[in-house]
Amino acid sequence: MRSMAANAVLLNELLDRIAPSHRQAFRRDYEAIRQLPGAPTDLQEFLDDFLDHCHRLYAGTAGAIWFRGPDGGPLSMKSSVGFERLGLDNGHEQAHRELLRYAMSQNRAFVVKPLSAPAPNSGVANPTDSFMVVAPIEDGGKQLGIVEIFLGPTPRRGKTIEERNRYAMWLDHLVRYLCQGVELRFLGSAAPLQPALVNLAATKSEIEGYKEAIRRSLEVTLNSYAGMSFGSLRNNQAFMRSVHELLEENGLRIACAECGAPSILRCQSAGNSKTGVFLYDHYLSTGRTFHGGPSTFPNIRLVAKPPRRRSGANDE
Ligand SMILES: [Zn+2]
Repeated sequence: MRSMAANAVLLNELLDRIAPSHRQAFRRDYEAIRQLPGAPTDLQEFLDDFLDHCHRLYAGTAGAIWFRGPDGGPLSMKSSVGFERLGLDNGHEQAHRELLRYAMSQNRAFVVKPLSAPAPNSGVANPTDSFMVVAPIEDGGKQLGIVEIFLGPTPRRGKTIEERNRYAMWLDHLVRYLCQGVELRFLGSAAPLQPALVNLAATKSEIEGYKEAIRRSLEVTLNSYAGMSFGSLRNNQAFMRSVHELLEENGLRIACAECGAPSILRCQSAGNSKTGVFLYDHYLSTGRTFHGGPSTFPNIRLVAKPPRRRSGANDE
């Protein structure tokens, strides 16, 4: 792995050779690639983002990332861009596969000219009319797969052999970020924090959705008893106890019809009412307060139970 200083030199040399109008786009894609390993994405999104930025950084026409199966199985394509345009399915697939196999045996990136061999006696060839930059993905001595970028018949960047060879070195450098991103997502023992936090946040909002569904369902059920009484004070109290248990289990309270504060609805005897009256029992800034007083179960609205008060008062 090249040192940071050497990379800075490499970057500046490359930038010198890129048309000034392209330098900004190049820098932008490079900066984006450097941020990708720590981004809150899963493996597939990471690979797609990586390839997308690489292919733009090279002003390429197509590209793909291949990974070897577990236990060194055959290469399979994990991400691709513009691949269908290459015409490889037109009888050139096998030749392309052989080129990839050759790349797996290399320890650094290389450039292959259109319809040419990567090296004398390599026994393989680039079956397309595109220049290619191909890099083995090697991590900790293990060959994981291949990144390949197609530059078209006349590359927009890298017009001379010397420049194209720099692009090969550059792809080796970028592959470090690819390895880092893959390690963070799968191979390392430490789970990446960012995606974990994103997952938790997603789960939290899913739970909020369930809670809201429960709240609405309970509201509908309870309001089907609006305007009713259960015949005696004792029955009304038994009903309200069950209602409160159910609400308590779900962290809910009944909004007071008078002031809107979260309250516990109770049925209590009052004056000449045989079946009692329904009262909203709640703690306001002035202390424990009862509002209301209908003689039948009222139409209600459910709200979240407020956080526990710090005083010793019992809101049960
Ligand atoms: Zn009230």
